[in-house]
Amino acid sequence: MRYERAMQDLALYIHWPFCLSKCPYCDFNSHVRERIPEARFVSALRRELEFEAGRLGPRQVNSVFFGGGTPSLMQPESVAALLGDVRRLFTVAPEAEVTLEANPTSIEAGRFRGYRAAGVNRVSIGVQSFDDAALKFLGRAHSAGQAKAAIALAREIFPRLSFDLIYARPEQSLPQWQAELDTALSLAADHLSLYQLTIEQGTKFATLYGRGAFRLPDDDTAAALYEATENAAARYGLAQYEISNYAKPGGESRHNLAYWRYQDYAGIGPGAHGRLTLGGALFATSRHRAPEIWAELVEQKGSGSTLEEEIGVQDRGREALLMGLRLSEGIGFAQFEARTGIPLRDALEARVLELALAEDYLRQTETHLIATAEGRKRLDALLPELAR
Ligand code: SF4
Repeated sequence: MRYERAMQDLALYIHWPFCLSKCPYCDFNSHVRERIPEARFVSALRRELEFEAGRLGPRQVNSVFFGGGTPSLMQPESVAALLGDVRRLFTVAPEAEVTLEANPTSIEAGRFRGYRAAGVNRVSIGVQSFDDAALKFLGRAHSAGQAKAAIALAREIFPRLSFDLIYARPEQSLPQWQAELDTALSLAADHLSLYQLTIEQGTKFATLYGRGAFRLPDDDTAAALYEATENAAARYGLAQYEISNYAKPGGESRHNLAYWRYQDYAGIGPGAHGRLTLGGALFATSRHRAPEIWAELVEQKGSGSTLEEEIGVQDRGREALLMGLRLSEGIGFAQFEARTGIPLRDALEARVLELALAEDYLRQTETHLIATAEGRKRLDALLPELAR
């Protein structure tokens, strides 16, 4: 019963598509413009929010996440206006998590107090490294010193704080990463996101990597770096609750948990995706990716929607499986069935499940199917085989 109610609650994502420059590893929907048309885009976001609220009806919002792009390029007044709309259009849970992604340049850090006054209670800072040479390689506009200053300031202002690092970079040795990790963990508050560098299609790094301009650590080194990450985080009291995410108890990102638990979420802004229960059926929603085309569509018809598609039972099962096994808590049998309409076993290839259980990549309790630590390392290979 509680879960059914949670299904109808909402996680709300708001996408700000602009950045000061494009990082060479990034395949997010982020764009560089000589002048950011902030007033136009804030108006369009507000209009699309009205549109979404209109068709969703009364819902309780448990989390709001300003992602990007670089939402910390928005003026605090813009964030305040959007949050004012969210409060007017929805019931916002008293303990709702309101996160804003920020980059640690001094201009953006200077806006932190304004964001806090607007209602943001958690920031997620794109630190990426505490090594200036690595920051340069990653195309970041800030220094390690600025990152530390932004973290210190954020800790004074916000009740909750996360920051991201990228590891398994070219030439990165285990001792180097351990030292960087110690710095990170000593500065961490309740949450850290630690991602392995991956080469995404269509990025500048994909071209450079294809030309042999740099190499990534081999599989054994990457595995050693991953294991060192998990161990070091545990020493500092941050548990791995998702493949790349670590938190103190209660510090987990409630917004991202809604994705991984396959609950309802609405996505506002260019390229944003949603999974929404409407009229008893589950729909996939998406918005046009190109910022200016999205804004035009919103101005013409209230929303930049490109796709509204009902998700069939089999696809619901597959999606819930792909998301849920990323979590250390695994997938609850009852929750899975309530959300997808089929028992978890019906979404799995029986032979692969048996093998994965025998190899200790998966384990079952009375209530959950869980990927073990070994299984989580192989999830990318395992999941396509496991899902029906
Ligand atoms: S700042 Fe973030 S969103 Fe923008 S280009 Fe860099 S990684 Fe991508």
